[in-house]
Amino acid sequence: MADSEDIFLRAKQRTFSGLTEDVEHEWRGPFYFIQAADPQLGLMKAWKDGDCDGGGDEWAEEVELTKQAVEAVNHLQPRPRFMVLCGDLVHAMPDTPFREGQERDLKAALKGMDPSIPLVFVSGNHDLGNTPNDRTVEQYCTAWGDDYFSFWVGGVLCLVLNSQLFYDASACPELKEAQEIWLEEQLNKASSATELKPKHILVFQHIPLYLKNPDEEDDYFNLQRIVRQNLLDKFKKAGVKAVFSGHYHRNAGGCHGGLDMVVSSAIGCQLGEDTHGVRVVVVTDSDVVHRYYSLEQLRMQGVDEDLRKLLQA
Ligand SMILES: [Zn+2]
Repeated sequence: MADSEDIFLRAKQRTFSGLTEDVEHEWRGPFYFIQAADPQLGLMKAWKDGDCDGGGDEWAEEVELTKQAVEAVNHLQPRPRFMVLCGDLVHAMPDTPFREGQERDLKAALKGMDPSIPLVFVSGNHDLGNTPNDRTVEQYCTAWGDDYFSFWVGGVLCLVLNSQLFYDASACPELKEAQEIWLEEQLNKASSATELKPKHILVFQHIPLYLKNPDEEDDYFNLQRIVRQNLLDKFKKAGVKAVFSGHYHRNAGGCHGGLDMVVSSAIGCQLGEDTHGVRVVVVTDSDVVHRYYSLEQLRMQGVDEDLRKLLQA
């Protein structure tokens, strides 16, 4: 593997080599990370042209926005422990004309990331196809690393999931089954641990469990109710603190029964009134506190004083 590819292929064999596992098992006090979603190179043009299926033949705007995000994050002091991109890295679906160029240009923009801030990738519906199959999942893993895996950071267990296998696994039921078994194992291990007990458990996936309310109707932007309820039960039982997602291109979410469902707007195309931005997430001994920042605001002002205070506790 070429050196330049290293930052994109750190998730292998269901773990993540961007952080040193044994050191990271230990809680050493509060820290923060950056959560972002949907750079989705190509959507802004496709949306403007009213052709979200076949359009998206230009993506210079999203490249610029991604570079702005990288620059803003690079300037933060203290440094975030990592930055996670919660899916829809590019707009072009697998095997469509602009895919290769969009992936190439996104990688080029992300190479500007400070090497001390590991990038964590999450797969979205556009990355895998709305109905993924063995081949599209394989293609994603070759380009960006595993589609689901776990890692530790400062005593916190992070689970990265492939939400497309929850949404529609009709063309790859065995992959869905494998992720479910793996997830069950991860959650059981974490909740029954005596040693290596995580301070918190966090989940990252592209499609939100829900947008505002756990009982809301199914739609394009959330997971189907039966799947949602099943995951909510599992997560709550295991003590998962928060689920971070994207996909909605707007900020949303809610906290129910102690589980925070966080929906972050996009680096790229906005479908609501939010700004192009990323989320700052502070993890303390007892809490996970987060706030969405516009790219401009983060670059000009950095992390707010009250959040920085939490890091000193
Ligand atoms: Zn999406």
